[in-house]
Amino acid sequence: MARFTSMEHLRFLLFDVHHIEELFTHAHFAHLDAEQAWMIIESAKQLAEQEMFPYFKEMDEAPAKYDGKGGVITHPQLKTIIRKAAEQHWIGGSALFEHRGLQLPEMIFSTGHHLFQAANNGIEGYIGLSSGAAGLITSFGSAEQIATYVPNIFEGRWQGTMALTEPQAGSSLSDITSTATPTDKGYYKVKGQKIFISGGQHEACENFIHLTLARIDGAPAGVKGISLFIIPKFRPEADGSLIYNDVYCAGDFQKMGQRGYSTTHLSFGDNDDCRGFLVGEPHKGLTYMFHMMNGARISVGQSAASVAMAAYQASLQYAMERPQGRLANEKDPSKPPTLIINHADVQRMLLTQKSIAEGALSLGMECNRLYDLTHATTGEEKEKYFLLLEILTPIVKTYSSEQGSRSAALAIQILGGYGFTTDFPVQQHYRDLKIMSLYEGTTGIQSLDLLGRKVTMQQGRVLELLQEAIQDTIIKAATYPALASYSIILEAELTRMGSVLQHLGQFAVKGEIDRYLADASVFMEMVGYIVIGWQWLKQAFAASKKLAEKDFSSNSAIFYQSKIHTMEFFFHYELPHTLACEKTLFNTSQLTHIKDYDMFA
Ligand SMILES: Cc1cc2nc3c(=O)[nH]c(=O)nc-3n(C[C@H](O)[C@H](O)[C@H](O)COP(=O)(O)OP(=O)(O)OC[C@H]3O[C@@H](n4cnc5c(N)ncnc54)[C@H](O)[C@@H]3O)c2cc1C
Repeated sequence: MARFTSMEHLRFLLFDVHHIEELFTHAHFAHLDAEQAWMIIESAKQLAEQEMFPYFKEMDEAPAKYDGKGGVITHPQLKTIIRKAAEQHWIGGSALFEHRGLQLPEMIFSTGHHLFQAANNGIEGYIGLSSGAAGLITSFGSAEQIATYVPNIFEGRWQGTMALTEPQAGSSLSDITSTATPTDKGYYKVKGQKIFISGGQHEACENFIHLTLARIDGAPAGVKGISLFIIPKFRPEADGSLIYNDVYCAGDFQKMGQRGYSTTHLSFGDNDDCRGFLVGEPHKGLTYMFHMMNGARISVGQSAASVAMAAYQASLQYAMERPQGRLANEKDPSKPPTLIINHADVQRMLLTQKSIAEGALSLGMECNRLYDLTHATTGEEKEKYFLLLEILTPIVKTYSSEQGSRSAALAIQILGGYGFTTDFPVQQHYRDLKIMSLYEGTTGIQSLDLLGRKVTMQQGRVLELLQEAIQDTIIKAATYPALASYSIILEAELTRMGSVLQHLGQFAVKGEIDRYLADASVFMEMVGYIVIGWQWLKQAFAASKKLAEKDFSSNSAIFYQSKIHTMEFFFHYELPHTLACEKTLFNTSQLTHIKDYDMFA
C-alpha cells in the first residue's frame, strides 16, 4: 500500500522531540504509558489504512451531494468509518473519565487524527467536528445537556457541527443576525440562515447537533450580544422520542476539494418551531465558541500538515520510480536515463516539501503538548502553557495551510504532467488543502489576531514567553558544535522580529492602528518561518542527541541524519524568506491604502 505518512517521523516527534512520556508523570495522564500510547496510534493507522485510505479517490469522484429534499447523500463507506472511529474512541477518547472518555492526551488523540487526515482528508472532519462539539458541550453545557447529547455523539450516531457563518457574516461574526426569542418553557425559538456548515444533515448519522450562534432578542450589538445554542435536527422529548426541530437543509455547496465532506446551507425556524437550548449564560456565546474554534484552528493546521505529508510521500515515491533525463555531467544517450530523484532541482522540491510538512507537524505536536499541559498543571505553570498556546494557535493554522498549499503544488511539479492528471493523488491533495487557509478564520484574520492581539497581549508577556521557549532550544542546540551556527542564525531571526515589531510599534503608539496592522499577513509569514525554524532546530537537537548516544532503538542513524540535513536545508532555503518580509515591513510608502478603485485598473 502507498504510504500516506511516516510512522518513523511520528515516533520521533512523540518520543524524542516532544517527550510525551513527561505527560504521564502528571496525575491527569498517569493511567497511560509510552507503550500504550504507541499501541493506540498503531490502531489508528490500521483504521486509516483499512477503512479510509482505500476510499480517498472514490469519495472525491462521488462527492457528498444534496438530495433535493433536505438531506445530503454521502459515500456508503462514511457510515462504517464514523461507527468504527466511534467504537475505537476516536470521537470521545480525549474526554474526561467523568464524561465516559479515556482522558487521552491530545498528543495521542491528535496523532491518531493525523493518520486519518493524511489517509482521507475529506472525511476526517466528520469525526473531528463531533469530537469538538462534544468537547464544547462538556465544557459549558448543563449536566442535562451533557447527558442528552454527548453519549450519542460519542457513539457516532449523532453528528456535531458548528454553525456560525451566515451569508453576510463570515469573517465578521459580529454581524450575525440569526435570532433567538425566549419562551417561558426554557427554550428559545430560533430563526436564521447558516451557510457553509460542514458535516450538516448527511445520511450517515441519525441526528445532527448544531452548535449555533444567534442573538437573543434585545441583545447588545456586536460580539457581546451573541449567544450559543444547541439546536438538534431532531429534538429529544422526555419520553425518549425524537421530533423534527424545524432545521432544514436547504442545499449544499459543491467544492474544489474535500468533496466527500458535506458543506450545507441550513435554514432554522421556517415553520416557527425551531427550539434552541442555551449553552451557559446569554451573550457569552462567542467566548464559548472560541473554545471549540481554538481547538479547531490547531486541528486545521495539523490537517494541512497531514495532507502536505501525504502529498510528500506520493511525490517521493514517484521520484524514486520515474526515470527521466541524465545528470548534467552524464549526457551519453546510450546510457539509461537516471531516476528524477537524482536531479538536484527535484531534490530541492522534495526537501522543501519535507521541511514544510514535517516542520508543521512538529509545531502541531508542540501545540498539542501545550494543550495537554494546560490540563495537567495548575496555577502559574498552567497559565504559561495557556498563553504560549494562544500565540502559537494562529501561527500553526496559517503556516501549515499557506506553506502546505505551496508544498502540495511542488508535489504536482515533481510529477510533471502526470501530477496534473487525476491518475495521481497529488492534485487532490492540492485541492483538499486550499480550504485550510480559509475556514476557521482566513489567513488575513489569523494575522490580525497575531499582530493585533497576541503580540500585545499582557503587555507583550505572551510574545516574551514564545521568545523564551525559542531561546531555550537555541541554548540547548548550541551545545552540539554542528548545530551552533544554526543557533546563532535563529537568535538573529529573533532580533529581526524584535526590530520589525519596534518599527511597526511606532504606528500603534501614534494611534495609527490601520497602518500598524496593514501588513499583518507579511508579519505572520515572517513569524511562521521563524517558528518553524525553531521546530527544526528542536528536531535537529533531538536527532543529534540520538546520534551522540548511538541510540538507534527506535530509528536508524540515517533517519536522524536526515533530520539534521532537513534542518540545514530549511535554514538555508526557507528561513531566508524572512529577509524579504523584513524589507517589505520596513517599507515606508503606504501602497495598500488605495481609496480610488481605478488604481486597480
Ligand atoms: C468548505 C467550507 C466549510 C466551512 N465550514 C464551516 C462550518 O462548519 N461552520 C461555519 O460556521 N463556517 C464554515 N465555513 C465558513 C468559513 O469559516 C468562512 O468561509 C470564512 O470564515 C470566511 O468567511 P467568508 O467566506 O464570508 O469570507 P469573507 O469574510 O467575506 O472574506 C473575504 C476576504 O476578505 C478578507 N477579510 C475579511 N475581513 C477582513 C478584515 N477585517 N481585515 C482584512 N481582511 C479581511 C478575508 O481574509 C478574505 O480574504 C466553511 C467554509 C467553507 C468554504
